[in-house]
Amino acid sequence: MKAGEPMGYDSSIFFLASEELKRRKARAEREQRVRCGEALLKIPELASVEKEISSAGLELVKAVGMGSEAQGFVERLARKNLAAQKRRSALLTKSGFPADYLKIKYECPKCMDTGFIEGIRCACCENLLRSLARGRLLEEAPSFSGGFDTFKLGFYSKSADPILKISPYSRMRDILSFCKNYAADFDCDSPSLLLTGETGLGKTHLSLAIGLEVSDKGFGVVYGSAQNLLNKIEREHFGKVKSGDDETVQTLLDCDLLIIDDLGSEFSTQFTVSVIYNIINTRLLKDMPSIINTNLTAEELESRYSRRVASRVIGSYVTLAFFGSDVRQQKRKSGE
Ligand SMILES: [Zn+2]
Repeated sequence: MKAGEPMGYDSSIFFLASEELKRRKARAEREQRVRCGEALLKIPELASVEKEISSAGLELVKAVGMGSEAQGFVERLARKNLAAQKRRSALLTKSGFPADYLKIKYECPKCMDTGFIEGIRCACCENLLRSLARGRLLEEAPSFSGGFDTFKLGFYSKSADPILKISPYSRMRDILSFCKNYAADFDCDSPSLLLTGETGLGKTHLSLAIGLEVSDKGFGVVYGSAQNLLNKIEREHFGKVKSGDDETVQTLLDCDLLIIDDLGSEFSTQFTVSVIYNIINTRLLKDMPSIINTNLTAEELESRYSRRVASRVIGSYVTLAFFGSDVRQQKRKSGE
């Protein structure tokens, strides 16, 4: 992989999409066979018409090698086929079936549920990939819905902080606009972000909103809380089962955008500190963007992860400092 080239969705997402398309196609064909059986029971004459239609397709092969007579032959065949199809429709409607009852009803008639049109991915396949990637991204936050549009600035106070001389409302308005632009312009050279501030100010919401928008564009995005990501890594590293060794670390190192939520809430050991350093440092060296959310201050980051981790993050990430009072309670009150 060249530097700066997106990795895109995880290969397992493509696999899941192709399995789903196969299921859709098989279901459409199965349902058509059932309808066919049902119609044949009711209309026995249909059998000979069906035979005529399917033999027309086989006859078409004869045109190859016919030379100048081919055109006339194909035209006669087409007329015959059309007439047979009309007879079929008439038989069906006479018995109370819709005229297209025996047609295979693909979920996507454009690509006939193959996912491709002339070698190019069909829109249905793109949608499927996007929705599978979203599902994967939100595995740890299944109840999250919406994105930037559901972020309510109205929950933040408009009274200016006496020391900072700015209100939480105007700070959050700036942060929201920064995050929207960040997601809209995202590419593999985008800077890394450090979202700091107390719990309940919307760090998770905004980082997920970025993650979803970036994922929708086809980039590979991984989101997880520090605790869960590290648990997974520890299990793979120290676990008895050696298959898929350190798979999670590799995913975190390779994805186009890594979002680590709530850094500092995890149970800290020498191992977790070194893993965090390795991930942060490797991604910085490769110029790959990450987003870290934390309610630790710069000093706390330093005492917890060592000066080298803290200085890497603070020196190289764009810091967005959230402030104000916990908006979760107001959200609950308003029924959000
Ligand atoms: Zn399609």
